[in-house]
Amino acid sequence: MELLVENLKAVYRGVILALDGVSLRVGPGEAVALLGPNGAGKSTLVRAVAGLLPKFEGRVLDGHIRLNGQEATHLDPVRLSALGLTALLEGRPIFRHLTPLENLVAAGHRLSPKALKEGIEEVFARFPRLFERRNEQAGYLSGGEQQMLLLGMALLTEPKLLVVDEPSLGLAPKLVAEVMATLDALRREKGLSLLLVEQNARAALGVVDRVYVLERGRVVFEGDAKAAMADQDVMEFYLGKD
Ligand code: ATP
Repeated sequence: MELLVENLKAVYRGVILALDGVSLRVGPGEAVALLGPNGAGKSTLVRAVAGLLPKFEGRVLDGHIRLNGQEATHLDPVRLSALGLTALLEGRPIFRHLTPLENLVAAGHRLSPKALKEGIEEVFARFPRLFERRNEQAGYLSGGEQQMLLLGMALLTEPKLLVVDEPSLGLAPKLVAEVMATLDALRREKGLSLLLVEQNARAALGVVDRVYVLERGRVVFEGDAKAAMADQDVMEFYLGKD
C-alpha cells in the first residue's frame, strides 16, 4: 500500500503548530523511517495518519493524506483500519488483565474463526515466548514480550501498511535488535509497507530503505538509509552521535 503525505499542517488546541508542511511517501512494500529529536512532530504525524489527532485535541489544518491514491485525510481509525492501515502507538496499549491469547483473540475479531485460529498459530510460531506465556496476565510480560504481543496483535488485523511509533522505547539493546529484526521479517514476508518512527536512529536505519528526519514540524533531511548512515555529517548533525 502507498502512503502519501502532502504538505501536512497540524495543530493542537487550534494554536500549537506541530506539523508545518510535511510531505513524505512510503511506497508499496517499502520501509521508511521517520526520525528526529523530542518534540519534532513524529507522534503528531503518526496520529494524523492514524486518524487519532482529534483524540489529542489536535486537527489537520491543511494538506492531504492519501492511501493508494484515495483521500484519507479526515477518516476515522475504523475506516482507516478497514483500508489496511494499522498503527502501533507509543505506550503498548494491551489489555493488561487479559492473557496474551485473549489479547490476540480481541485483536483478530474481524477474522473468520478459521483465519483467527491460523493467525494465532502463526503468531505463536513466530514468537515462541508468547506461546509459553499465553495464559498468564499480559501485564506481567516483560517490555520486549509486550512489544512482541503488540506486533502479533497488529498481524491479526492483516495490515497493508504498518505504522509503528517508537517500538524500541524502554527496551534493552538486545531486544531492540530483536524487534527491528521482526519488523524487517514481517515486511519482507508479508509485503507490508512500513513507516517506522524512532528516536533510536541507528536501530531504525538498519531495517529501512529510506529515511526522513523531522525537526520542529518540518522535514530537514530526506534520503537513502544506507547513504544517511554512511554520511557522518548527517548522522552527527541530525541524529546525534550515539
Ligand atoms: P517525542 O518523541 O517526544 O514524542 P515527537 O517528535 O513525537 O516527540 P510530538 O509529540 O509530535 O513530537 O510533538 C510535536 C509538538 O506538538 C511539540 O511541541 C509538543 O509539545 C506538541 N504536542 C504534542 N502533543 C500535544 C497535545 N496533545 N497537546 C498540545 N501540544 C502537543
